[in-house]
Amino acid sequence: MEPMTRHPRLMPDEPRIFPARVVATRRLSRSFQRVTLAGDDLDGFAYAGFDHWFRLFIPRAAGAPFELPGVTGRSWWKPYLALDEAVRPHCANYTVAEVRTMSAGVELDVDVVLHWDEEGELSAPVARWATTVELGSRAAILDQGLIFDPALADGAVVVACDETGLPAVRGILRGLDPATRGIAIVEVPTTDDVCELVAPEGVRVDWIVRDDDHAVPGVAALAAVRALREVPTDCYAYVVGEAALATEGRRALHRAGVPKSRITFSGYWKHTPQAALAR
Ligand SMILES: Cc1cc2nc3c(=O)[nH]c(=O)nc-3n(C[C@H](O)[C@H](O)[C@H](O)COP(=O)(O)OP(=O)(O)OC[C@H]3O[C@@H](n4cnc5c(N)ncnc54)[C@H](O)[C@@H]3O)c2cc1C
Repeated sequence: MEPMTRHPRLMPDEPRIFPARVVATRRLSRSFQRVTLAGDDLDGFAYAGFDHWFRLFIPRAAGAPFELPGVTGRSWWKPYLALDEAVRPHCANYTVAEVRTMSAGVELDVDVVLHWDEEGELSAPVARWATTVELGSRAAILDQGLIFDPALADGAVVVACDETGLPAVRGILRGLDPATRGIAIVEVPTTDDVCELVAPEGVRVDWIVRDDDHAVPGVAALAAVRALREVPTDCYAYVVGEAALATEGRRALHRAGVPKSRITFSGYWKHTPQAALAR
């Protein structure tokens, strides 16, 4: 799903593609698999923290050959579509979870949400890849910069997400000025997914655990956003995750008095009811 970004200026003018290889994978919790990428060029990746995100390119099937699109300025989609289907990689949007400089070079972590379909299968391409990929396999990332605008986070913040936004919110809370105050609402599938977050002392983190395989992600976080009392109207708000959480969360915050110019929202993915799929 194409993120609805209100701040394209936070995107690099000349985004670069970084070829990489998978050097580690590990289960972080019930719903997260961490994949670590490394590559000779990655020391040129200018990690900006916060919700720095990228397009992830992976083979369509294990070991399948793939080619990367030529990128001119910010244009990558047309060259991507122009690739022959036999060598066109799968592409999806992800957040930089961590970047480290090791003696062997730079490593970049991606935290992939695992979600199971009605048959109990990991059918979404990236979740399947993250749990089955062999070390040494090729991948690539296209730098896309930030959606969160740190310049607007100059006082109070209101942040809300479902599990797909947890890597972004973790990076944002870690990057905020220590004097920032506010609230972060973070919805995750299970208690096992609750993790330690580094945040300014004045930012309260409210975890919401769904604990219900049939509940639609983001609904509980949206209810919590709607229930907020006394939202500071000069706050900077950031809502990401399932599309309805993003759009309805923005609407609720605007109704509570936050100007639209101070709300960043992004539909990270769209829930598709199984009944609709079966039709
Ligand atoms: C800027 C940005 C940053 C993101 N960062 C992350 C990140 O760090 N980690 C992360 O896990 N995701 C992240 N996402 C969300 C991720 O891009 C989507 O979940 C995407 O659909 C996964 O791609 P896919 O190709 O595996 O599945 P798709 O082919 O897109 O979808 C396959 C099916 O899975 C369903 N689906 C997709 N995601 C979920 C989900 N989370 N729960 C339940 N059903 C789902 C879809 O509705 C669809 O039916 C981010 C999205 C954006 C826009």
